Amino acid sequence: MLQFVLIILLFIPTIVESKGAWSYENTKQWLRGHHYCGGKSQSPIDLHFDKSRRDHRLKQLYFEEQDFSGPAELSNNGHTVQLNIKNRYVLKNVAPESEDYKVEQVHFHWGHSHDINNGSEHLLEGRPYPLEMHVVTYSDLYSNIRDAMVNTRGLAVVGVFFELSDESNPSFQPLVDALTRVQSHDQRTSVSEQFILKTLIGEERMYRYYRYDGSLTTPPCYESVIWSVLRDPLKLSRQQLQAFKHLHDEKANTMKDVYRPVQPLGSRKLFRSFFAEDIDDDLKQRKLILENRGHYLTNNMILIAFLTSLLIIIH
Ligand SMILES: [Zn+2]
Repeated sequence: MLQFVLIILLFIPTIVESKGAWSYENTKQWLRGHHYCGGKSQSPIDLHFDKSRRDHRLKQLYFEEQDFSGPAELSNNGHTVQLNIKNRYVLKNVAPESEDYKVEQVHFHWGHSHDINNGSEHLLEGRPYPLEMHVVTYSDLYSNIRDAMVNTRGLAVVGVFFELSDESNPSFQPLVDALTRVQSHDQRTSVSEQFILKTLIGEERMYRYYRYDGSLTTPPCYESVIWSVLRDPLKLSRQQLQAFKHLHDEKANTMKDVYRPVQPLGSRKLFRSFFAEDIDDDLKQRKLILENRGHYLTNNMILIAFLTSLLIIIH
């Protein structure tokens, strides 16, 4: 009897937890209702230059404008803020001779109010950024995003980091202004037409990116995403970042640390679109320090070997 009661008690949390509900408080629990979250091709990951290989077929990405215009709608869905920009852009050059990918929505991941370092989902050389934007697109082989997201390479997401700057980013401000109107769950507002995604990101930035096959970073974690994470971050001021940290979820709690921790790369390959010469000074400096340390160690080892053999001869 006792055994029976224990078994029932063990299973209660699984029964109680509804399949659709999830939170960032314990991302490991996502596995319970969403088995894909435990797969081998999960996102986000830590992007390392030294673990990546240049793929010459990866061309500069670009957003081709479509006919549709008018104000875009921003909504608070309890997990993030999402800008719906359906039918405005098509993402080109995702893969050689691939289909086009239609832009569906843009959303964000950030940390908490006293943290200006963490917030991004992907890491770059082990380092987080305070904010990450995801531009979600789906293959035009499918009639809608729901059909696309359950198929391999059905989705393509462009990840863009933001770093702090002393000056505010004027191209980002129309969206930041709209955040004050969606502070509560389920609120919606329109964003000024002055917010232009293509202008915000800038064409130049779309040339250098990391590429790998991964997943949605929220349940149901389908492994259907071609990821392109831009290497060069955008800038925003501390005040602009802070605006994200006043948003509330469905329980009226502050939405904070809305990012999933990095997942193992495993046997997947990480590609990049850019040459080694394109890496920035900061990274070059760090690589140089590591290489010099390596030389120093080798020289020391030769000296130790020489002294040891000398001692043996003297004996
Ligand atoms: Zn995301």
